[in-house]
Amino acid sequence: MNPTDIIIPHDLLPQDGRFGSGPSKIRPAQIDALSAAGRTLLGTSHRQDPVKNVVGSIREGLSEFFHIPDGYEAVLGNGGASAFWDVICANVITRTAAVGVYGSFSQKMATSIVSAPFLNDPVIYESAPGTYRIPDFTPEADTYCWAHNETSTGVAAPVRRVPGSREAGALTVVDATSAAAALPVDISETDIYYFSPQKAFGSEGGLWIAILSPAAVERAFHIGETLECAHGERWIPPFLSLTSAITNSRKNQTLNTPSLSTLLLLDNQVRYLNEQGGLAWSSKHCADNAQLLYTWAEASSFANPFVEDPAARSNSVVTVDLVEDLHDSDVLAALRTNGIVDVSGYRKLGRNQLRVGVFPNVQTRDVAQLTHCIDYVARQLLMNS
Ligand SMILES: *Cc1c(COP(=O)(O)O)cnc(C)c1O
Repeated sequence: MNPTDIIIPHDLLPQDGRFGSGPSKIRPAQIDALSAAGRTLLGTSHRQDPVKNVVGSIREGLSEFFHIPDGYEAVLGNGGASAFWDVICANVITRTAAVGVYGSFSQKMATSIVSAPFLNDPVIYESAPGTYRIPDFTPEADTYCWAHNETSTGVAAPVRRVPGSREAGALTVVDATSAAAALPVDISETDIYYFSPQKAFGSEGGLWIAILSPAAVERAFHIGETLECAHGERWIPPFLSLTSAITNSRKNQTLNTPSLSTLLLLDNQVRYLNEQGGLAWSSKHCADNAQLLYTWAEASSFANPFVEDPAARSNSVVTVDLVEDLHDSDVLAALRTNGIVDVSGYRKLGRNQLRVGVFPNVQTRDVAQLTHCIDYVARQLLMNS
């Protein structure tokens, strides 16, 4: 049977078919807010108060949302989390990093470090996809890096300082791109908690946001002042300068022109999340969504959670393996024909797998409907195979 011929009964469909792991669902109210505020703000200068106030509102809203400790600050810049990997290389790592690698995104961070000619090769702590590996205490490391949520595999790792690392003067730097706003976190366990806004924050891409500790700010200024090009040690491209991002952010600006629509969508989302009850609310909501899927998969005859250790299963990105007879490409095609999109596994992982973003904007009822839709499609496909 041609998967695109399958018509899912209407009463099984979710209200909204967007289940991507990033970009992710944007609420209609965000679009309305963008349209309303955009009428006067889009097409105006980011150096003037109306836009600076939006940036200020985002920074304050995030500080409230993450209950950031005294002295920490929310900083932002252009380029997304991918650019921030290079920001870390240029401005944060003094010589040597210890890195946890357990999937594509944590691997990319490690690869950036390897490619920086002025840094030592990182000490890598690796584990198989579907598990996680936090670095051990490493005497020569001045920076510890890992990902809170490995988006390529649906694994969530703990965010706790490596014992002894702080006493040794090392910084803890956590990629929270698909975790921030979905998974609980104690920011005091990190020096840099960074993310892009198009995942759990349901905005658009192109921006990075980092919650910085005083020690991280101090490190960036120290490296900028003592190791930069003029001293012959390293080149910090102006676009990747963390000190300039900090200086601009403190004035509610960015080094260069940001996407105002991204900022407006994000501002609306941060306000919304804080009104709902902040991170306690959103992490509970995502946990409920994820639990529904894991429970369904465990009971299913054709699906199974990919991550074996229940404690490592992510509550923001859920991965589910399918039995051999049921091809993910057929399931994806049938779902897409019926308006359910972006539930493909991570391509490079190469498994027969579905992957569902269960971020705060995704309704629990829609997750339940999604399971009914997958059941329906699977029955049709298996019956006719
Ligand atoms: C998506 C993602 C990135 C890259 O984000 P961009 O905004 O596309 O640069 C980095 N790390 C993780 C964990 C991600 O999920």
